[in-house]
Amino acid sequence: MIRNITLIVVALALLTSYSFGYELLGYDWTYKPDPMGEDIEFNPNCSDYGCGSEEDQINALWQGANAWTDYAKAEFEFTYGGWTTRNSYTYDAHNIIFFSPGSSGNAIATTYWWYQSGGRMTEADIVFWDGAFSFSAYQSPSYSEFDVWNIAAHELGHVHGLGHSSVSASTMYAYSSQGETSKRTLHSDDVNGAQALYGEQDPFSVIIHTDDDSYARVFSGSGSFDFTVLAYNNDSYGHLFRATIDLVLPDGSTHGPLLNLNSVYIPANSTLTYNGSQNIPGNAPVGEYKYRARMRDTSYPYDDYDVSYFMFWVEGKAVAGLEEAGEGWALTGSGFESAEPLAGEGGQAHTSTAIIPGAFELRQNVPNPFNPNTNINFDLYEEANVSLQIYNLKGQLIKTLLDNRALDFGPYSIEWDATDSDGNSVSAGIYLYKLTVGNEIALKKMTLIK
Ligand SMILES: [Zn+2]
Repeated sequence: MIRNITLIVVALALLTSYSFGYELLGYDWTYKPDPMGEDIEFNPNCSDYGCGSEEDQINALWQGANAWTDYAKAEFEFTYGGWTTRNSYTYDAHNIIFFSPGSSGNAIATTYWWYQSGGRMTEADIVFWDGAFSFSAYQSPSYSEFDVWNIAAHELGHVHGLGHSSVSASTMYAYSSQGETSKRTLHSDDVNGAQALYGEQDPFSVIIHTDDDSYARVFSGSGSFDFTVLAYNNDSYGHLFRATIDLVLPDGSTHGPLLNLNSVYIPANSTLTYNGSQNIPGNAPVGEYKYRARMRDTSYPYDDYDVSYFMFWVEGKAVAGLEEAGEGWALTGSGFESAEPLAGEGGQAHTSTAIIPGAFELRQNVPNPFNPNTNINFDLYEEANVSLQIYNLKGQLIKTLLDNRALDFGPYSIEWDATDSDGNSVSAGIYLYKLTVGNEIALKKMTLIK
């Protein structure tokens, strides 16, 4: 309802604040049922060609958002929604960031936002005053340039609902200078402010980053990049989680998982690391990709504890159809070893550093040995026609649990009650279960006890 909307402005300028520490604006997104992502999407307009390529601008702006999304550990998250050609701060249901050829006094950048009654923020737009100041989206701004990442982190703090902090080292401090990059990351005062608004996240969180955080990763055809995933458990108890890495393709579809580990054990108050190297196949479609790490619950439906991602771009010669995009996404890496044994955790002692290049993974049945019921679990990384059959050691077919069924990407758990195709209980002993996915077959043993 437009008539209930009020426009508020806060500018990053040479202002003085007399309060101690962070300041709340009185407007925020806490009324949203889930401020962890889907609603607070922003769209950059990469129109300042003097400050860097579109990819560098997106990367710098996204890193500014990551300062909050990854490190504030508050129940709030930005989502990157793709770039836009919009270039005015109007109430239009889009949170945009753009460079203006104009100026606004001594403001370097300005955040405009709109709210409804009760202090409910409904939209925010950010303007970088390109007419008055020079900006840089590269790693090192010159003495005459403002760092886009540095300024974006500040302005996106306003989008959270934070005002200016009196702590001079904080990202939300009202002053900034050319060449400054120290506000790219958050001060504890900024973290406290974000958590004062949105509360603290659950104790699990994940961060994925590349070794060259501040440069866009652009590939013309094939290439590769190295990355690190950090999984945190700030709880006083150890926990199991499911570690997944997947890919959002330029058309918005998901490919993967490229890595899928269940269950990874993380001890109390500790951090696990995964170091990986990702190949970009030569036939990857042109466009913008998200490379995404997810820390998830170990049981279906595998709710996300936390998600982190960065972007990369494929340009130039690669023009293959999207249906071919899945080929060649080889991931190698190591890490996420269990720091403690998994005894007492349901017997799913699957703590692997193995890489899964195929279209599926078949797991050991649970429980095993069993009587009379057991679950056969597998993951499909692509949609496929799937058969699952039980054989005895003579190679005789005992039962067909799935008969060339068309299944979507995802995890599956199929129960077998130790009966044959006539419904009669089978005798104790070793049985084989065979999973057929397209043209590929995997086979594992299991033991029925009486
Ligand atoms: Zn400000």
